[in-house]
Amino acid sequence: MPLTNVILIDHPVIHTKLTELRDLNSDHRKFRELLNETASLMVYEVTRDWPTRPRAVQTPMEQTTGKVLARQVTLVPILRAGLGMADGVLRLLPDARLGHLGVYRDEKTLEPVSYYQKLPPDIADTEVLLLDPMLATGGSGTAAIAYLKKAGVTSMRFVCLVAAPEGITAVQKQHPEVPIYCAAIDRQLNEHGYILPGLGDAGDRIFGT
Ligand code: URA
Repeated sequence: MPLTNVILIDHPVIHTKLTELRDLNSDHRKFRELLNETASLMVYEVTRDWPTRPRAVQTPMEQTTGKVLARQVTLVPILRAGLGMADGVLRLLPDARLGHLGVYRDEKTLEPVSYYQKLPPDIADTEVLLLDPMLATGGSGTAAIAYLKKAGVTSMRFVCLVAAPEGITAVQKQHPEVPIYCAAIDRQLNEHGYILPGLGDAGDRIFGT
């Protein structure tokens, strides 16, 4: 059954990079590079239907009217693994501002614990991309979306790399109107809340910890 509001970005170049990301032999340098490259590629799909506004431009030949993004953009990586996607997204959206939300998963309860929040003051007027490479239990994503809504955000998209069915269900239960973009929907979670087949602990692999 097709999932509503889940956009699986199905592209051969992304599949290739994701396969390399899954490979346990990819070290932190390679992993970081691949994750940022994949995040850049995903931006095309994620932003495809964003509104534009006309802007006058003088070319070397004549005056014309081009189009530019209608709204400012805010990226909100969920710390810490979301940081691994931020540079890649910024390559295509260099004017974006960055907010940060610190949420970690209690290893025993698997519940999200929020420990840091810093958002641009006018975030409510911007298009928001929430970034987290792994949508596992959905606890952090659900908590982050709730926080962004409280800050007045009305237009946001959740961009992850790999999603577990359980995480998609959990996020959609609380926030069915928030679109989820991912490059893969994996089989399941294990008993520790890790995605199978997944790619391991994304934060550890990005930062070499
Ligand atoms: N977070 C990760 O980094 N990996 C998983 O598989 C699940 C959550």
